[in-house]
Amino acid sequence: MKPGQLTDRPLRRGKGIRSSSSLKTLAALRRSQAKHAPPRETGFSPEVKLAVRKRAGLGDPVVALCEPCGIWLGCNRGQVRPRVELFRGGGNPVVNAVLLCGDYCSGCCSLAMARDPAVHASGWWLTSDQDPRLQPVMLHRRRGPAVWLTESAGYSPCEPGNET
Ligand SMILES: [Zn+2]
Repeated sequence: MKPGQLTDRPLRRGKGIRSSSSLKTLAALRRSQAKHAPPRETGFSPEVKLAVRKRAGLGDPVVALCEPCGIWLGCNRGQVRPRVELFRGGGNPVVNAVLLCGDYCSGCCSLAMARDPAVHASGWWLTSDQDPRLQPVMLHRRRGPAVWLTESAGYSPCEPGNET
């Protein structure tokens, strides 16, 4: 055997394996992202999403909390989801939108999407015949009193129409 033959073969083999395994990895990643990724858009504008995050952080999106359970989400974690599905109506976007932790498979988002009765009782998802403006929510695992979501992206202790 010539020395050149011994060194050529492992190099070619190594190159081939490296490029094919990285291609497979990228393809697998793309497949898994397509299967598990949440929908790109929930139908809310960036302005509404920011307003909801600010509400959930009491004015500062950096300290935004999951509105149902109270875990920290900040500027990027969690999802802004509709209380009444948008295709069923939903009304004022800020009043209809809530910030939930998790995704389709975990956290408050998955509970709301699975139509969990306790999450419904707390006002975080509603049926199409319910008006989000008139349905209060229980913040942070019912640790506080019921509040109503306002059109100015805040919380109100007073039912709409009974403000003083
Ligand atoms: Zn949560």
